[in-house]
Amino acid sequence: MAKKKVAKKKATKKATKTGSKKSTAKSASRWPAQKQVLFRPERLKYVRKLIRSETCVFCEAREKGVKPESLLVATHGSAMLILNKYPYNAGHLLVLTTRHVGRFEDLKPEELADTQALLQKAMRALTELYSPGGFNMGLNLGSVAGAGIPDHLHWHLIPRWPGDSNFFPLIAETKVVIETLERTHERLVPYFT
Ligand SMILES: [Zn+2]
Repeated sequence: MAKKKVAKKKATKKATKTGSKKSTAKSASRWPAQKQVLFRPERLKYVRKLIRSETCVFCEAREKGVKPESLLVATHGSAMLILNKYPYNAGHLLVLTTRHVGRFEDLKPEELADTQALLQKAMRALTELYSPGGFNMGLNLGSVAGAGIPDHLHWHLIPRWPGDSNFFPLIAETKVVIETLERTHERLVPYFT
């Protein structure tokens, strides 16, 4: 039974070989795999990052200074506090180093100290302003880990309330935030001046 199967396979292989020889005989110079290729050389920059973004939104904010348009709320030594442009909740803040750095391992001792102090300060301000039930705080390091801007690392600080995760994000990729960024900025700035 097994022998029969092998013999059958060989026969099929031979037939295919002969068939393919016939079909390619006329075009011997062609590449072996005749596939449709859609050439998109402009995609290369995304794959190999040949063309890096000249500007970083966080560094831009630092240069613009504290104002509603820049979303920068405060600076504290080597750290800065920025409103997330696409907040999960009202009061969703980002704490970063003023230096453009993406790797946690590369942070200097003073940067570690300043960012943590600013996180604590920001948490106190949010607690007083919004009385949240809790917080989410953390880093997404690298694009694969969910970092939107991986080249300039940033801690997320998100106030949470019971029932704040409604069904909207699940069905419409839309999050309802109850306060404008301008208003949040206006309310937070006095805590850091
Ligand atoms: Zn930057």
